[in-house]
Amino acid sequence: MKKKLKAVLFDMDGVLFNSMPYHSEAWHKVMKSHGLTLSREEAYMHEGRTGAATINIVFQRELGREATQEEIESIYQEKSVLFNSYAEAERMPGAWELLQKVKSEGLTPMVVTGSGQLSLLHKELMVTAFDVKYGKPNPEPYLMALKKGGLKADEAVVVENAPLGVEAGHKAGIFTIAVNTGPLDGQVLLDSGADLLLPSMQALCEAWDGLDL
Ligand code: CA
Repeated sequence: MKKKLKAVLFDMDGVLFNSMPYHSEAWHKVMKSHGLTLSREEAYMHEGRTGAATINIVFQRELGREATQEEIESIYQEKSVLFNSYAEAERMPGAWELLQKVKSEGLTPMVVTGSGQLSLLHKELMVTAFDVKYGKPNPEPYLMALKKGGLKADEAVVVENAPLGVEAGHKAGIFTIAVNTGPLDGQVLLDSGADLLLPSMQALCEAWDGLDL
């Protein structure tokens, strides 16, 4: 069990922190204030994309054009201000326990996130929005984590909650565990390339010792 495994690459929003309800709410409200439609559930489908990519998808669909740089900057700024006005996201139930378990086994936890909101974490090895060019679903963030950690693909596992994050981990050639902490049908995560699907971080924590990784 876990003979080769050296590191666990955790996504942040929706995995370590229960921040996605706030992100989806902020996206929905800001788009609405611009006369654009982005449902809370759709926001979960775009989770992991850069802000610019998400904004352009909505602009293309509803206005038939890309957003200008000014529009991208102002909408993303408004979304960030609204998100920051909400209560600080709490730890995802089970996440802390799993981190302790991972550390006690001598494995290295790393955090791989498209987020630029880093106040929540500071002790772990990280790949963030400031490190990457493309972001998820491009495998880049996870390939960068392997490089940073001096790891081969089969020495790590990815823990992700979003379809595009799962896709990124899968494309990086890493065993990818999906935890379905949001409102989407779990099948979407399997279709994105998840090797294993669990309903929550608590369930993953409970199953962890029995996993053949
Ligand atoms: Ca996520």
